[in-house]
Amino acid sequence: HAKMNGRNDFAGFDVEMDVLLRNRRRVETDLREALVSLDQFRVHYQPVYNAVDGVLTGFEALMRWQHPARGWVSPEFFIPVAEESGLIRDIGQYVLQTACEAALKWPEQSIAVNVSIIELQDVDYVKKLAAVLSATGLAPERLELEVTETAVVTAGTCEENLKAIRKMGVKVALDDFGTGFSSLGRLTQIDVDRIKIDKTFIHGFDQSDSDKAMVRAIVELARATRLATTAEGVENVAQVEFLQAIGCDALQGFYFSPAVPADKVPELLAAKPALPSPAARESVNRI
Ligand code: C2E
Ligand code: MG
Ligand code: MG
Ligand code: MG
Repeated sequence: HAKMNGRNDFAGFDVEMDVLLRNRRRVETDLREALVSLDQFRVHYQPVYNAVDGVLTGFEALMRWQHPARGWVSPEFFIPVAEESGLIRDIGQYVLQTACEAALKWPEQSIAVNVSIIELQDVDYVKKLAAVLSATGLAPERLELEVTETAVVTAGTCEENLKAIRKMGVKVALDDFGTGFSSLGRLTQIDVDRIKIDKTFIHGFDQSDSDKAMVRAIVELARATRLATTAEGVENVAQVEFLQAIGCDALQGFYFSPAVPADKVPELLAAKPALPSPAARESVNRI
């Protein structure tokens, strides 16, 4: 639009950019400060359920930042700033350490932690990961690292790290699948344990049959390749039923629960399965 309206809008755009950049720089300064005492940071945990029987199988750790003046700042905003400034390394270590410690209290559950490509490009990432595992005593098999498509297709240190991570017994999940650039066919060549289908596809179910077809294709191909599947952003029962019908393995979303503080996790662990058992469903269907 700026181009069509001539010079003035270009000037306006520059001013906006300037505000944005200054804002980013301030966020970076504030993040740096927050990393000193760590008391503005929290890790919340979102439960993940087995799609067949609704049994709680694990949690995803999600970073939360309460800025003294701005209040809660979304990770969608501060994670990119942390990545550009390199602060993601310290934030990532904090989340990993906190989540592994917390998971020890939930012995049956898996724990997923998001890892930035910036961290995965460090030659000493695996060493740091191994140190956290040995310091906390968490079994590597219970930990799953969520990485993006770019991390999975980037050769070099990133690739070597992912290989070493899986060799340690730590699982790797490909997050936000479908939003990146790789084709569906690439799924069969990717060395990961699980794919997480991006929530935009799940949210598209109501409006678009092509989103349903896409998710069905992803699940079928993943199954043929022996990759586990998780659907993220599940918000209603129609989505649950479709995902169960196509054989998706795990479900996560506000339909079940948002991410909660660690002290609310015992309530989730004590609750009954989040879905009726298949047997109960069948008997309802027969009536
Ligand atoms: P993600 O890893 O794909 O995490 C899922 C996001 O979807 C979370 O947003 C979660 O709160 C949200 N979500 C879960 N269920 C639903 C639902 O039913 N509907 C909707 N609309 N949203 C749902 P959140 O916590 O704001 O995090 C956003 C992104 O920020 C994450 O996406 C992840 O990429 C990044 N992030 C968060 N914590 C960390 C972290 O500790 N390290 C790194 N590197 N990235 C993080
Ligand atoms: Mg994730
Ligand atoms: Mg995701
Ligand atoms: Mg996401």
